[in-house]
Amino acid sequence: MPHSPNLQPRLARILIVDDHPLVLAGLVTMVELTGHQITTAESGLEAVRQLNDSPFDLVLLDLLLPDISGLEVMDYLQQQHIDTTVVVISGLSDIDHAIGALQRGAFDFLRKSFPAAELLKTIDHALQRRWLVQDNQRLSAQLLTSEKVHNYLIENSPDIIYTLNEQGLFTDVNPRVLPLLGWTAQELIGQHYSVLIHPDDLSRADYVLNHCEHNFQITRLVELHMRARQPDGGVRLFSHELMRVAQPGVCADALLTQPRWRTYGIAHDLTERKRVDALISYQTTHDLLTGLPNRALFKDRLNLTLQRAQRHGQVAAVLVLDIDRFKLINDALGHDLGDALLVQIAQRLKGCLRASDTLSRLGADEFTILLTDLGAPEEAAQLAEKCQASLRQPFTLQSQVAHVSVSMGLALYPTHGNETELLIQRANAAMTHKKTHGKDGYVVFEAAMLPLDQQLMTLEHELHEALRQGELEMFYQPQVDAASQRIVGAEALMRWNHPQRGLLSPAAFLPLAEETGLIIPMTDWLLQAVATDLCAFNHVSEVPLRMSINLPPQYLDRSNFTHNLHAALLSHGLLAAQFEVEVTENICIRNPLNAIEQLNALRHTGVRVAIDDFGTGYSSLSYLQQLPLDTLKIDRSFVMTIPLSGELPPVVLAIISVAKGLNLHLVAEGVETSTQLHALAQAGCHTIQGFYFFKPMSCQALLAQLGSGKE
Ligand code: C2E
Ligand code: CA
Ligand code: CA
Repeated sequence: MPHSPNLQPRLARILIVDDHPLVLAGLVTMVELTGHQITTAESGLEAVRQLNDSPFDLVLLDLLLPDISGLEVMDYLQQQHIDTTVVVISGLSDIDHAIGALQRGAFDFLRKSFPAAELLKTIDHALQRRWLVQDNQRLSAQLLTSEKVHNYLIENSPDIIYTLNEQGLFTDVNPRVLPLLGWTAQELIGQHYSVLIHPDDLSRADYVLNHCEHNFQITRLVELHMRARQPDGGVRLFSHELMRVAQPGVCADALLTQPRWRTYGIAHDLTERKRVDALISYQTTHDLLTGLPNRALFKDRLNLTLQRAQRHGQVAAVLVLDIDRFKLINDALGHDLGDALLVQIAQRLKGCLRASDTLSRLGADEFTILLTDLGAPEEAAQLAEKCQASLRQPFTLQSQVAHVSVSMGLALYPTHGNETELLIQRANAAMTHKKTHGKDGYVVFEAAMLPLDQQLMTLEHELHEALRQGELEMFYQPQVDAASQRIVGAEALMRWNHPQRGLLSPAAFLPLAEETGLIIPMTDWLLQAVATDLCAFNHVSEVPLRMSINLPPQYLDRSNFTHNLHAALLSHGLLAAQFEVEVTENICIRNPLNAIEQLNALRHTGVRVAIDDFGTGYSSLSYLQQLPLDTLKIDRSFVMTIPLSGELPPVVLAIISVAKGLNLHLVAEGVETSTQLHALAQAGCHTIQGFYFFKPMSCQALLAQLGSGKE
């Protein structure tokens, strides 16, 4: 099959016209060799009909036909603009017919005596040329449309598209420059790009357009401000996509003399996008009703403030304000007036602040104020009062008058927390407290305002810190010999110097320490602290004091407990006999056998063991019998039952006789009166501990006490 220029085999439709059946058959046989599709006609009119009905690529046309001549058929083709290639095959040999045929556009004229090969060659030539012409026509039609499309796109592009020559002069620019920058394309052509670039960006433009290395075909992106046409033109920001392209049609010899490249640029207007970005960022950080910063921005500012305050040792405060009974006001006035009221409230509050403070709206009727760089914490309270006074003035909304009061909570940095969330949460807890306790005013945060679970969490966190920061301290309550009334021992009692709440008793923190396991490291610390203090007491005391420490059951569960205690004694050069551990009956509840074993091991090292709070817990006399005990402490709750007459109640007598029966040293605790003292001493109590003689005191105080006793 013949091949077209695009190398695809093509099938042609060929019409063979001859009135002589034998000749026609001969032609068909020959032409069939080409593989094309063949149709025949035996008269001129039949040929015309076929040509009208469907397109043919080629007509092999006899001139002498019975009805109309071949030339008339060709005339008809021309009139009707029927596009086909005609090869005339004729028995007529006169030149006139040949000329007539060629004038009517015939591709070739063959005499009927031709050899078959010539016919086939002619057919092939005719078809090749036909297809070549068709391909050309199609290509140029395509080119025309693509150029039109290209021009259309450039003309209607939302971007400014331009080219600059090597000198930076505009050589082309699309009409978009007019609406965006006020210049027509014609005015700009021939001008330098600097007429458009904002002076601030000019050196950057010079750099990217001239000085920096450009690789052809590599796009550079740069944002440049462009000036609209003066005098009233504004400035717009564009992102420019720049590409260096070779100057078309410059041959190698001319490279030195002619310009070699142009810059092709697309400038995309960012003004609108920037405006939208700014709007979105405003909307995500502001409350749309009042225009105040919202929670996110407030937190961000608080964050920054805390960082700065930390660096410069400043005080900051968070004040949370909530309008009292706002829902009622809103329902009474309607939503629109409610909104208007909030706007007015925001304005009043703003009027109370310094420029450096931040007022924000957190939610419906809740506002927060961030006070930075306070001279003193009291300034925050003054501001709260100022806000309160300002909001007390009646509000006028259209013809209505509204009265407003506000509940406020104040949390201070660093006193009430040093983290953003924590401060907001605490100011909020204070505000909620005020809401439920009278409204209309402010309170400063206190731990007790937090919900119970939060209080515990806070306490746990603080206790960790206390241990780390050395806020724990040991106090000592002297124990006095009942007969001589001299100090013979002391009980070590833990205290916590809380940074905000002052000196705390164990009841405020020990239960939690036991629950969380913190009691273990706390007791580790206690052993060292007490051993150190005892060394100091030994220096001033005439007799070596017996030091009692309270041993929590958890600590006993630790297998290295005996070792720890012993190590503490050794490292301080103390005798084990100076130490007594106090355990409660409860120690036997969890794991009595272990407790007994542990205490035995301890006692072997020389440390004494006392049973504390005896009779208040789950006493089991059988276990008691097995415990390796030296001392029994009569609990304060029993001592308190001794009447003014001094007659000992039966339970106290029973406890005393148990101690005597087990041959234990007897200590009475919580002795506050001389009646109690004398009654207990008379009944055989050896040692007295209680406010009657001494309250628990600091190490320094006991040192002084022991020193003064010496003189
Ligand atoms: P406890 O072992 O029964 O300690 C005696 C408590 O009674 C002490 O209270 C002491 O101040 C108080 N007290 C002593 N004499 C009188 C008095 O005449 N009148 C009154 N009203 N009270 C008196 P504190 O120091 O508050 O300790 C309470 C409890 O906390 C202790 O009871 C003890 O169970 C525990 N505790 C104290 N310090 C420690 C410690 O370092 N470790 C352990 N694990 N527990 C400790
Ligand atoms: Ca005790
Ligand atoms: Ca006790």
